[in-house]
Amino acid sequence: MRKVSEKIIKKLQITQHNKCNLCKIKLDKRFYLDYKVPLSKKGSKDYDNLQLICPKCYDKSQKVEGYEYKTPTKQIVCTYCGRVILGFSKKQVDYMLMQHIVAKHPERVKIE
Ligand SMILES: [Zn+2]
Ligand SMILES: [Zn+2]
Repeated sequence: MRKVSEKIIKKLQITQHNKCNLCKIKLDKRFYLDYKVPLSKKGSKDYDNLQLICPKCYDKSQKVEGYEYKTPTKQIVCTYCGRVILGFSKKQVDYMLMQHIVAKHPERVKIE
């Protein structure tokens, strides 16, 4: 499945008032992105066909097309440009920051 951007997730959270679109329970840090009409039933991949649901509804629906989404819990800020890098562990954000610095600020990478 293609990656859905953080922006789309945020937009859905706002539209759904951060509640599960099926049972209306408040969404926790862990929830699922799902298709209202499954792709197997000719559902589209468009924004209008996306919804966020809680793990319980996801289990009930037994759908395999959606995917789990976790809110990133760790973040690190690039000291050179102020960009916020999000991830799930310190190791991951450190690694992503390193990648970011190599890609965006190559002049800062010390050659030893
Ligand atoms: Zn639910
Ligand atoms: Zn930067």
